[in-house]
Amino acid sequence: MLIVEKYGGSSLATAQRVAAAADRAADHVRAGHRVVVVVSAQGDTTDQLLSLATQVSDRPSPRELDMCLTAGEQICAALMAMALGALGVDAVSLTAAQAGIRTDGTHGDARPIGLATDRIWRELARGRTVVVTGFQGVSQAGEITTLGRGGSDTTAVALAAYLGADKCLIYTDVDGVYDRDPRKFPDAQRFDRIGHDQMLALARGGAQVLHDRSVELAKQYHVPIQVLSSFRPGPGTLVTDEPPDQP
Ligand code: ADP
Ligand code: ASP
Ligand code: MG
Repeated sequence: MLIVEKYGGSSLATAQRVAAAADRAADHVRAGHRVVVVVSAQGDTTDQLLSLATQVSDRPSPRELDMCLTAGEQICAALMAMALGALGVDAVSLTAAQAGIRTDGTHGDARPIGLATDRIWRELARGRTVVVTGFQGVSQAGEITTLGRGGSDTTAVALAAYLGADKCLIYTDVDGVYDRDPRKFPDAQRFDRIGHDQMLALARGGAQVLHDRSVELAKQYHVPIQVLSSFRPGPGTLVTDEPPDQP
């Protein structure tokens, strides 16, 4: 199977957490799967970079802001590849430009428009696990773009769609999708399964567990997404085309 698996910022906040995420990806590799890992920046790195930018300029240029913010994912991708290497997994980290993630030119809120998949396929064919920076794209003019806050989910779904992956796993800090934010509402109910349309309504309503654009892409390309906890085992939530089994 070809698996795309994405780890969010809190799942990678410390070196230990990067190692734990690498360990899980390594399990998938050892089970015989080809794996593409998508990483967010560690913890609140993106917020810190944003704060630095606004300390040097009241109105930073959107181009330079994208150059600055994408650094967080780039550091984390290299760390993930190193952590995989330490576990004996041959891994290579790729920026969006190297991975061929093409977007329009809208700095700060770019849309994926395609993927030049040859580099990723080449690395996979060499038996390597590929680690891709989330949140980044490259425009047709060769400029680095970002996909909007929370956009690493969109990177993962775009890769799963364009590579025709068998699975798209989103590892985060909650154990699935709930009817309301489970951190604010302790009585929130978890979905075992939810349709793309209902998920889209939740995401557009502010449920940041999945970036709304990632759900739009998943619906368009019929990509099933499994939302899982990085921290505890469990079935998580399957987001699919299918009508949900439960309310
Ligand atoms: P990551 O860093 O893994 O991308 P996010 O912080 O972007 O994680 O998204 C996960 C968070 O989404 C959870 O910690 C939770 O508080 C919040 N959230 C909001 N609404 C929901 C919902 N309906 N179901 C699950 N989580 C939700
Ligand atoms: N690091 C980016 C952000 O904080 C992208 C992401 O986490 O999905 O918005
Ligand atoms: Mg997120």
